[in-house]
Amino acid sequence: MSRFINNRLKDFKAYIPGEQPTDLEYIKLNTNESPYPPSPGVIKAINEGEINKLNLYPNPDAKKLIRKIAEFYDVSPNNVVVGNGSDELLAFAFFAFFEKGVCFPDITYGFYPVYAELYNVPYSLIPLRDDLSVGVSDYVGIGKNIVIANPNAPTGTTLEPFDIEEIVKSNPDHLVLVDEAYIDFGGVSAIPLTKKYDNLLVIHTYSKARSMAGARLAYGVANEALISDLKMMKYSFNPYNVNRLTQEAGFAALEEADYYRKNNNEIIKTREYTRECLLELGFEMTSSKANFLFAKFRGINGEDLYLKLKDKGILVRHWDKPRISDYVRISIGTREQMEKLVEAIKEILGGA
Ligand code: PMP
Repeated sequence: MSRFINNRLKDFKAYIPGEQPTDLEYIKLNTNESPYPPSPGVIKAINEGEINKLNLYPNPDAKKLIRKIAEFYDVSPNNVVVGNGSDELLAFAFFAFFEKGVCFPDITYGFYPVYAELYNVPYSLIPLRDDLSVGVSDYVGIGKNIVIANPNAPTGTTLEPFDIEEIVKSNPDHLVLVDEAYIDFGGVSAIPLTKKYDNLLVIHTYSKARSMAGARLAYGVANEALISDLKMMKYSFNPYNVNRLTQEAGFAALEEADYYRKNNNEIIKTREYTRECLLELGFEMTSSKANFLFAKFRGINGEDLYLKLKDKGILVRHWDKPRISDYVRISIGTREQMEKLVEAIKEILGGA
């Protein structure tokens, strides 16, 4: 730490992303990336012609991409903002809307408390139920701004749109931010509700279900006033937040929705296959509708399992945190990768 750091950042604890090792060919099941490449049109879109234009700034309004996203979800372009991954849009939202405070589950995406601390936003944690699901009634009429990841991370449990509507409707003077990073693996999006409620903001990412974690692209959908506030944030921070190549890639991906739908269905099938295998081995799991499983085994603690899998060349994610230190989160890869995972776990449980 330098001697120039702001006083209030001296003890600041930044977010720690999942490991991205470069030393070994790991089977990487630790950051919920898609095991599949982007669609052929995306690969074509990032062509020599586009690369040759990198001397020019991208369109700061990302007009073509935003029009396409709006068309895809049947909303107006004025209802859409794009960001450099959902992390950036979340950062904008925490700064723009939560001055008076916000609440979210005690176990959820680890970046929420980091943004709250960074921006001096007071926050309260609402404990998940004993089965690690989000208790809808805990949020109904709570009278606070709310952030919910749906499906939740790292637990994977998922609320239905009528649950979200209940929460949104009963807190009309507070903003409900629904982070739908994992919605395309079996959940139903709350985006249509943004037409009915002016206090709902839904954020989606291209990082998971659209195989583009490396491109950094996400979008927020909400009523026009909320979107214009987020655009003000963007224009006060980084007007060129989505680069030229990513804008083209994001557009092309939406022209090939079938490709992603097929992949996501495959991921869902592989998730259920993996769940069955782990159940047979005696694991307990939350009921995840995301591209990961959250699993624990009574005979081995989460950290040990994580370390032993790492020794065998398989990366999963473990948190040394209250309530969840027994668990590991396992991203769903290809069927072949998951077969290798199951074999490795069998060896570990067998003492090999
Ligand atoms: N929200 C949740 C719930 C996540 O798990 C993640 C992935 N780490 C993100 C947002 C961030 O995703 P992005 O790559 O779009 O920044």
